[in-house]
Amino acid sequence: MNKKIFFLLIAAACVRVPVTNRKQMKLLPETMLQNMAATEYKAVISKGPISQNATDIERIRKVGNRISSAIRNYLVKHKQDKRLQGIAWEFNLIEQQVVNAWCMPGGKLAFYTGIMPLCNTDEFIATVMGHEIAHAIARHGNERMSQQLLLTTGQVAVSVAVANKPKETQDLFLQAYGVGTALGLILPYSRLHEYEADKMGLVFMAMAGYNPRKSVDFWKKMAALGGQKPPQFMSTHPSDENRIAELNKFMPTALGYFQGK
Ligand SMILES: [Zn+2]
Repeated sequence: MNKKIFFLLIAAACVRVPVTNRKQMKLLPETMLQNMAATEYKAVISKGPISQNATDIERIRKVGNRISSAIRNYLVKHKQDKRLQGIAWEFNLIEQQVVNAWCMPGGKLAFYTGIMPLCNTDEFIATVMGHEIAHAIARHGNERMSQQLLLTTGQVAVSVAVANKPKETQDLFLQAYGVGTALGLILPYSRLHEYEADKMGLVFMAMAGYNPRKSVDFWKKMAALGGQKPPQFMSTHPSDENRIAELNKFMPTALGYFQGK
C-alpha cells in the first residue's frame, strides 16, 4: 500500500469521542478487541474468586445498570449509538485485596474487593464506574493498541496485521489487558486518556443521577492512600492535585447533566 492510500484510510478511520468530541484515530476493528476481551474476561471471572458479598455485588450492578442505560440514552440522542455496537455489559466483583477496577472493550467490567472500603456510598461506586466505563466507551484500549501496532509493525503492516489477526495483535491485547496475570493491573493509560475518562465519567455519573461533586471526595480519599495505590493510579496518572483541579474545572459542565441538583 502506498503512503497516500494509507493516509486516506487513516482519515476515513477518524471518529470523535462522545462527550469530549476529541478526534480519534481508530485503526483496529472494535469487534476484534471485543472478542479478545470476552475470552480474557471469562478466564478472569472463572478464576475469580467472585466475592461472596451479595450486597456489594448488587450495589455494583445497580450502579452499572443505571450508568449504562443513561449512556445509552445519551448516545442515542446524539446519534452516536454506533459506539454501543457489540457491547454486552457485565459487572462483577472479584475477591482480591487490590485497590482497583477496570473495564475491557465490550463493557466487561470488574471491581476488586480491595477498592470497596473506598466505595462506601453509591456515588463513590459511580465515580469509579463512570471513569472505567469511559475508557471503554472512548475506546482508549483500541487507540493505545493501534498506536502501538503502528510503532511496532509500521504503517503498511497494520492492515495486514489486523486482517490476519496475528499473534502480535493478540500479545498487545494481553499486555494491555492481561489482568489475570498480575493482580489486576492493567497497563496504565496515558494522561490524556486519564483526564478524558475523568471528564466523561463525571458526565456519565451525573446523567445517571449521581452527584458528580462527590467524585472530588473520592479522589481525595484515593490520594490519602499514598503508596498503597496501584501503579495504575500513580505512575502515569495525573498527580492527585492536578486531577482534582481538573475535575473542579469541569464540574459546571457535569452539573449541567445532573438532575438532582
Ligand atoms: Zn483510568
